[in-house]
Amino acid sequence: MEFTFHAVGVVRSPYKEKFGIPRQPALAPAARLSIELTPPYNHPDSVRGLEAFSHIWVSFVFHETADRGWQPLVRPPRLGGNAKVGVFASRATHRPNPIGLSLVRLDEVDTRHGVVLRISGADLLDGTPVLDIKPYIPFVESRPEAVGGFVDGPPPLLTVVWREAARQQLAEDPRLPADFAELVEQVLAQDPRPAYQDDPARIYGVLLYHCNVRFSVVENTATVLEILSAAQN
Ligand code: SAH
Repeated sequence: MEFTFHAVGVVRSPYKEKFGIPRQPALAPAARLSIELTPPYNHPDSVRGLEAFSHIWVSFVFHETADRGWQPLVRPPRLGGNAKVGVFASRATHRPNPIGLSLVRLDEVDTRHGVVLRISGADLLDGTPVLDIKPYIPFVESRPEAVGGFVDGPPPLLTVVWREAARQQLAEDPRLPADFAELVEQVLAQDPRPAYQDDPARIYGVLLYHCNVRFSVVENTATVLEILSAAQN
């Protein structure tokens, strides 16, 4: 059976590339994103009543990797990149239908110009096409007794420290949002490095907003080395 779906909106996100995006929503609550609904779905009637919900389910297309196909077995980062589980036992992005599902906080429904949903803590790339939005219903969907398989509990976190020069660069960039430092800390604490990589000499870069945040990792500590704004890249 084949179906054709149309995107109902597009994500605007500080995450400009896949590297560094937390592996699930809620892990970096300082990430502020929005979903802009596109015509003909961007009429205020389409979201009437939604503002009364604190969280929404967002289904979307993994558009950046949609053409890469899928395998029945995948290696979840959570298992260190060596053990395999079935694709349907994982939240891997490479799936038979490249559809993602994220539960995110809904901060505001803005209907001043079309419809913009302001959300936080999402694990979504800038430009992600949104297929659907549904309210989260806590009494049905919150299951504290549920068993979490190989992802039972949050991942271990890195400690994040700043070089003085990087802190200085933060202070000097008026375009950065007030909670940018918090976002950097939450993103790096997740340890964005690929499984297996443990090279203390290596310098990594995560793109957030218009900045390239350069960092290194030694044992359990990530150090923010410098913040290059787009003009300098
Ligand atoms: N919560 C979703 C996504 C989990 S995978 C679900 O369970 O279905 C999360 C990863 O998806 C992120 O780390 C990011 O690398 C990747 N991602 C986010 N938006 C994407 C997009 N538009 N295309 C491809 N990959 C994307």
